[in-house]
Amino acid sequence: MTALFPVQIALQMPAHSAVGHLLTYAAGARLAPGTLVRVPLGRREVLGVVWDDNDSCGTAPGEAPAQALPEGTQLRAVSAVLDGIAPLPDAWRRLVAFAARYYQRSCGEIAMAALPPQLRELTPEQLARRLKPSKAAAPAAAAAGAAAPLVALSAEQEAVVAQIAAGSADRRPFLLYGSTGSGKTEVYLRCVQAALDADPQAQALVMVPEINLTPQLESRFVERFAPQYGAAAVVSMHSGMTGPQRLRSWLAAHTGQARIVLGTRMSVFASLPGLKVIVVDEEHDASYKQQEGARYSARDLAIWRARAHGAQIILGSATPSLESWHASRPATPQDPGGRYLRLHMPSRIGSAALPRVRLVDMTQQPKRAVFSPPLLAAITERVQRGEQSLVLLNRRGFAPVLYCADCEWKSDCPHCSAHQVFHKNDRTLRCHHCGFTQRVPPACPSCGNPDILPLGKGTEQLEEELVRLLRNVQRPDHAPARVARIDADTTKTKGSLEAQLAQMHSGDIDVLVGTQMVAKGHDFRRITLVAAVQPDNALFSNDYRAAERLFCLLMQAAGRAGRDAGYLQAQGSRAEMWIQTRDPQHAVFTALRSHDYPSFAAQQLREREDAGMPPFAYQALVRADARTQEDAQAFLHAACQAAREARLPGLDEVFLFPPIPMTIQRVANVERAQMLLESVDRMALQRFLHAWQPLLHQLRAQPVHRPLVRWLVDVDPLAI
Ligand code: ADP
Ligand code: ZN
Ligand code: ZN
Repeated sequence: MTALFPVQIALQMPAHSAVGHLLTYAAGARLAPGTLVRVPLGRREVLGVVWDDNDSCGTAPGEAPAQALPEGTQLRAVSAVLDGIAPLPDAWRRLVAFAARYYQRSCGEIAMAALPPQLRELTPEQLARRLKPSKAAAPAAAAAGAAAPLVALSAEQEAVVAQIAAGSADRRPFLLYGSTGSGKTEVYLRCVQAALDADPQAQALVMVPEINLTPQLESRFVERFAPQYGAAAVVSMHSGMTGPQRLRSWLAAHTGQARIVLGTRMSVFASLPGLKVIVVDEEHDASYKQQEGARYSARDLAIWRARAHGAQIILGSATPSLESWHASRPATPQDPGGRYLRLHMPSRIGSAALPRVRLVDMTQQPKRAVFSPPLLAAITERVQRGEQSLVLLNRRGFAPVLYCADCEWKSDCPHCSAHQVFHKNDRTLRCHHCGFTQRVPPACPSCGNPDILPLGKGTEQLEEELVRLLRNVQRPDHAPARVARIDADTTKTKGSLEAQLAQMHSGDIDVLVGTQMVAKGHDFRRITLVAAVQPDNALFSNDYRAAERLFCLLMQAAGRAGRDAGYLQAQGSRAEMWIQTRDPQHAVFTALRSHDYPSFAAQQLREREDAGMPPFAYQALVRADARTQEDAQAFLHAACQAAREARLPGLDEVFLFPPIPMTIQRVANVERAQMLLESVDRMALQRFLHAWQPLLHQLRAQPVHRPLVRWLVDVDPLAI
């Protein structure tokens, strides 16, 4: 009889399972930690990763995972070992374990979410077949063209690249604070190049907030590295890829064949045995925070990962997050300085000037004008000169609400505490929270008034307005002005975004209306005017990060204008950023006018420090969803009480705010409540959450809390 060895497996348990997060199975041989296996779970067979006894994991204390099976139970056997794939490296498992612990999830959940979905579906035989043709990379390398000559670095790029190459003595993360158009990407390319040249096994991870928006970045990396390392050396990882594509990229990274992984937040979990350098571009971007399931911050995990791997990390932005800005403050006699090293590239390439910012005081403009006369004149001039303009409004649809002036009826969503947005193109009312869609009613459903009116503006309306306003305006070739719109509605079908961006790049579009989708990252060469027509809305929110977010967005948007100094000169034109506001004295706009991120950040940080807000405090949110607000809040109250009764560690250092309804209280007929936790001591907050987790699971199981739909914890939440 063959000996059986007990092995611990991390796997994805059913949601809210109270069982430990690792299960013990029997294997016919000793299995190295990190080995991928298939195991029976209930009546299914699932993917799992062999986990080490000693790996600390997200498991709550008191839930001894190895003994989770009742005594006398026969261990179930591992059904298959995926031995065609090398075990996942220790460093990868440590990252997963850290993420699980920090974000209050299970190792299995994080691990399974980090692996390509196809790995879960394919049988070992199918997988073995997939593994074979992997070798076709060599001819691809030969096929790649000759290397283009490198551009000469600007003096600022040169200095920054040298500093990064010299490294910091204590391997601190670098924050590359560089203006829009200062050539940060070229710096990334050089740093990646240096790492790859230094070590034949070295790998680089380059993260961007939304890879679909940056096909340019992908082609720049391929262009640069394919001639030397082969076309297979650069792979992408993002949710827009098909299952087989993701599996291929993942395997290439895991086997070391891929030298560079370009990806969105999910790529922070790529298996990269040779990881030597990580780049997080646009590090301030909120899309680095996963907002469902395990709510991790890919930027923060990247920093942890770099330290654990001894890899170099570069965070880049023209408008760093206040967290990173604060963490990179220089040392003073009173202050030892931050944990990061700040590098600065203030100038644009080719001495292109940053756009001049023009504030239009809308209280002095004709009532109800969407486009103030001076802005319209400026756009008209641009069209006549053959230059492009970008008009930004962060709200899609025609109008955010329909309204009846007779009885005050509004197009409220019947399932959410939100309005249904009016989409004129297909005459629908759509809820952007739950998706509920209806035909526009012919008359007010409440009083029969046939004149129901759109209230407020969306991108559809802006586009329509512009078409009307520019109908008699001609381009230099006498063709009529062409207006287009890019937002989530116009880019639903695959490839449509790429096609529309290509039109923009080729000059087919004169005026582009868009949401934040078009504001960031793109290297448009012929835009000389960017306008934010109604940015004030963003400041009415009660989120303390609203000002920071708006400043970033506008600064990024401004960064799309005048990126090509040669073009501006040839045109005899200058780049402008127009802002229509009813509050031109607001700190966001005055700082923007002088492109003064540092003083804006300093002012915001002072406010945050006075108010004891992040980055001077650490937060977590506990959210509860139920059919009624009372049930949702009852769970949070009970959770709070349970913590006090149990005198949980860290409780003295953690402040628990009372449960409150969320800003959008009801979505899809579910009432949502939340409770904020805050502490100046990050570790104390962690200790508390860790000890609290099992109590929350126990509470959830009580009959009185049966009406609860779900609960979740969000550590370092971005929106509170
Ligand atoms: P950022 O990411 O800082 O906004 P990019 O990296 O997109 O800026 O660079 C802006 C533009 O300048 C790009 O078109 C890029 O090709 C070009 N560029 C970057 N570095 C140089 C250089 N040293 N010489 C000439 N052009 C450069
Ligand atoms: Zn009415
Ligand atoms: Zn709804």
